[in-house]
Amino acid sequence: MADIIRLLPDNVANQIAAGEVVQRPASIVKELLENSVDAGATDIQLIASESGKNLIQVSDNGKGMSETDARMALERHATSKIRKAEDIFSIYTKGFRGEALASIAAVAKMQMRTRLKGSELGTEIKVAANEIDSQEYCQCPEGTTIKVQNLFYNIPARRNFLKSDQVELRHMIDEFERVAMAHPELAFRFEHNGSELFNLPASSLRQRIVNIFGKRFNEKLVPVDEDTEVVKLEGFVGKPEFAKKTRGEQFFFVNNRYIRNPYLHKAVQKAFEGLLLEGSHPTYFLFMDIDPARIDVNIHPTKTEIKFEDERVIHSIIRTAVKHSLGQYNIAPSLDFEQDQQYNPPPNNQAVEAPGIYIDPSFNPFEKKDHQQKSTGGFSGSGSYPQHSKPKSRESQEWESLLNQIPEFPVEQEQKSLIPEEKLAPIAYLQVGGKYLLKSHGDGLMLIHQRRAHTRIIFERILRSLNNHQVAAQQLLFPSQVAFSPGDFQQILELLPSLREMGFDLDEFGQNELIVHGIPLYLENPNPGEILHEILEETKNHNQEHQEDLQEKLAAKMAKVAALKVGTVLEQEAMAHLVDELFACDNPYHSPDGRPTIINLASSDLDKTFG
Ligand code: ADP
Ligand code: MG
Repeated sequence: MADIIRLLPDNVANQIAAGEVVQRPASIVKELLENSVDAGATDIQLIASESGKNLIQVSDNGKGMSETDARMALERHATSKIRKAEDIFSIYTKGFRGEALASIAAVAKMQMRTRLKGSELGTEIKVAANEIDSQEYCQCPEGTTIKVQNLFYNIPARRNFLKSDQVELRHMIDEFERVAMAHPELAFRFEHNGSELFNLPASSLRQRIVNIFGKRFNEKLVPVDEDTEVVKLEGFVGKPEFAKKTRGEQFFFVNNRYIRNPYLHKAVQKAFEGLLLEGSHPTYFLFMDIDPARIDVNIHPTKTEIKFEDERVIHSIIRTAVKHSLGQYNIAPSLDFEQDQQYNPPPNNQAVEAPGIYIDPSFNPFEKKDHQQKSTGGFSGSGSYPQHSKPKSRESQEWESLLNQIPEFPVEQEQKSLIPEEKLAPIAYLQVGGKYLLKSHGDGLMLIHQRRAHTRIIFERILRSLNNHQVAAQQLLFPSQVAFSPGDFQQILELLPSLREMGFDLDEFGQNELIVHGIPLYLENPNPGEILHEILEETKNHNQEHQEDLQEKLAAKMAKVAALKVGTVLEQEAMAHLVDELFACDNPYHSPDGRPTIINLASSDLDKTFG
């Protein structure tokens, strides 16, 4: 039989290799930005259009390339960063495989203009389908500009595989943020479709984080700093009270390279153990400096995963250092985690009183009282923790001022609807701590979690009205402008159709801003900005493909915002009505997030308690 094995032609081999390196526009962004960092640039500009499908251009003021190097750079396995195999173990650059430019050139049209520092003239190379079209001298600034156009023009299948513009842009922003975070000492700019998404001057790390994620981050950051033989650890963690429901802001960098590592992630989680509310995640930006000989960056083609020689040691260093930082910042007091997350009593010096059982028959729910608001953690979910028996620290003062800022959310209307026309049976419920309803049930007790019950009721109401396409909305007296970080803005744009369906009346308004004209009726009158940010958090990482899930998620979130706050004192009738409505629900036994609303204590349970 004749020999049949052949070497693949270069362009085919490159296209196959490109499949690994260039999965989507964001991959190109990452490779080009990293090349500019490796080239010693201090100022790096990214310009893209149509989420990178049409154009991705990165310009830098780095060291540039000679005429020959410019051509060489496009060859596969062409790199200036290593010479021999051992060099891999002392690598401090981002790249070293020499594959990126060749791969990009295999799947897009590319133009490179580059001038060495001190050279008179630069070089311009044009490439299409892996073939060099032209190479000429040119006038250009020192440094390098690489322009990538018509991505996947020669592989329509890959092009069709790309997600919506918004999704692809989101990925590009992610990559941009990772490189920009790793190098606060360099200036970065990102312009998309003619508008500037980021303009980041060289700055401190803290400032860079704030510039990327928004001013609100400044007060949230606690520094971490630990220097050991194995690793030098630096960066910030977010104060636990600002922890989020999403896993968004979690960054590890090793030798200024963004990495993912589930094992080390657990180390941070451990350090936060007991400080976070269920379901929320710590924020962190942690930088490790490690001898490159003790890591292996080579196990993943796009290099976000790396192997550590001393993984366990690093794990425990991270855990201890983060714990230490949290402690130092006085935010790791002994906490009462049984507290409902919405319940935030003001800090004080007095011993905690035992909770009493009371009924307040004279209480008028239409009268707003101070204590109602005080015990309201606010819908923002950024609720702080109770800090009993502690002298007033800076933290607790901050905490108090936070409380004072909590906007008022009138709950009258909800309460009104809880009171039926006709009078119900006389005293049947006890309200405990503004939190639980208690009723004798058979020969035992039934306990109802007031807030969760109400959340369930509203949740089902919202879903019903969505199904019937009868969402009640109210126009705001004053339209409200809401600003977002560029990354968040892309995300909220994706949610617009769903939000409108839910009764929001809003539009894009200038750069990274929305204008809100109306909100769903059941939200009463809260701050639309806070709500939208809340909803955004709740839905980050949400899989776009499942529209129904998204709607449920949004409904659950809004129910939470609209539900009675812990500490709201209810009249008999209101309690009875609440329970009736609860039992009329499709699923009365759980809140939308799956936590119990009702607990029955049988007489035998009570017997046991009394011993
Ligand atoms: P790698 O980064 O792994 O070396 P690349 O294909 O990304 O491989 O780049 C190949 C080579 O081209 C690099 O090693 C570098 O010498 C050169 N190069 C690429 N981009 C730039 C740039 N922006 N400025 C200067 N040199 C560059
Ligand atoms: Mg590279």
